[in-house]
Amino acid sequence: MRKMGGDECHHPLHIFFFPFLASGHIIPTVDMAKSFAAKGVKATIITTPLNAPLISKAIQKSKTTIHIQTIEFPNVEDGLPKGCENMDSLPSPFLVPTFIKATRLFQEPFEQLLLQQHPNCVIADVLFPWATDSTAKFAIPRLVFHGTSFFSLCANECIRLYNPCKNVSSDTETFIIPNLPGQIKLTRMQMPGTDFFKFLEEVTESEVRSYGVVVNSFYELEGVYADHYRNVIGRKAWHIGPLSLCSRNDNIKQKATRGKEASIDQYECLKWLDTKKQNSVVYICFGSMPRFPGFLLREIAMGLEASGKPFIWVVREGGEEDASDELLNIEERLQGKGLIIKGWAPQVLILEHEAIGAFVTHCGWNSTLEAVVAGVPIVTWPIVAEQFYNEKLVTEVLQIGVPVGAKKWGPLEEDRVKWDEVEKALRKIMEGEEAEEIRNKAKVLSKQAMHAVEEGGSSCSDLNALIDELGLLN
Ligand code: UDP
Repeated sequence: MRKMGGDECHHPLHIFFFPFLASGHIIPTVDMAKSFAAKGVKATIITTPLNAPLISKAIQKSKTTIHIQTIEFPNVEDGLPKGCENMDSLPSPFLVPTFIKATRLFQEPFEQLLLQQHPNCVIADVLFPWATDSTAKFAIPRLVFHGTSFFSLCANECIRLYNPCKNVSSDTETFIIPNLPGQIKLTRMQMPGTDFFKFLEEVTESEVRSYGVVVNSFYELEGVYADHYRNVIGRKAWHIGPLSLCSRNDNIKQKATRGKEASIDQYECLKWLDTKKQNSVVYICFGSMPRFPGFLLREIAMGLEASGKPFIWVVREGGEEDASDELLNIEERLQGKGLIIKGWAPQVLILEHEAIGAFVTHCGWNSTLEAVVAGVPIVTWPIVAEQFYNEKLVTEVLQIGVPVGAKKWGPLEEDRVKWDEVEKALRKIMEGEEAEEIRNKAKVLSKQAMHAVEEGGSSCSDLNALIDELGLLN
């Protein structure tokens, strides 16, 4: 007998969580597993041997038990460096399609696991479209986890269905996304290429055949788009976020190891922030992936310097384009004006600090939502994936951010945001009346985010409803 609502149960539901191998996917999936486990579900995260230690560290001190099951990374020879089991460590963004292709070979070992353990449900990443077929073989419901906003799920679907790009005569002419509430305008230049849309067809097809979609969002943030996704686009969906809040009661040390071990002592970082005025510091981080080319690092450095704001700036080293000389110059030039973290920052801890006044982000959905949770205004600098959609949500729908002026989807080399645009955006988001209004709106959303995951809140209720429904199926 299973008691519903996720409370104590005699035979708990067993759910497999299968994240794509990249920090931006693993982090929210681990949080999701924790959220389900806190409601009595038996949670097993599927990953590869090299990713397992990162996950076990993240769940080590968790109050709930979470299981990890490893499967070997497919042994491929077409260009992936040996031992590269996480997209964060790809030496070039051009290897992303090869990496995604390699993960298709997970299908067979994954099906072996399904056969052995027969979980009650699988929540598998959107980048594993084949998982719908795998689960169907064993009559196990599959839920899709996209890791993005309702807004961008809707935008993608409207663009896929109506192809508005064909009605414009140039890459810079704007079009309105058809059938999407809010008259949202984009240009062809802000869209991914045709390969992406081919993959999207496959993803959509597997999503339509899946049991439904779980979304890391909350109703108060984007209710119009949550309704649109369910009622107009017709997907069965549950909003269960912000998932990062499942660790809200963790201590400083635990928060500092979210995703990876931080490259700076968390206490030192917080001590430095303590010396700064409220809302005065800019935090700059572009998620887990991109390494910026030297010339862009220079533009950011000059923009920061011109703005006169103290900052914490996360830069990533290595990759094909070595910008270490440029970085040395920058460190010298900006000495004493801020902190440069080379590697991994304790992002959630930093955003929570009252000295942070703005977040310059690439609009990855986790970062965007973490800013919302912290009530921090955003400077949007989208680069790839669905980030240009998230920019629209932040700047036009929610009005909690200003765009830096990124114009082109894809390799950073081609979109040359200039230092004066960086300076202008920072002044706009941190100085004057408009900045005050933006900050107030951000604070309101932050409160609503906290409430959403509490007992009786919209996300907590949706999570309970999902667990109840899965309980009835089994
Ligand atoms: N992150 C972090 N420290 C870093 C860089 C990223 O903790 O130095 C975390 C961040 O808090 C977020 C995730 O990594 O949870 C990045 O996800 P997002 O969707 O923002 O971007 P992606 O990396 O997927 O492009």
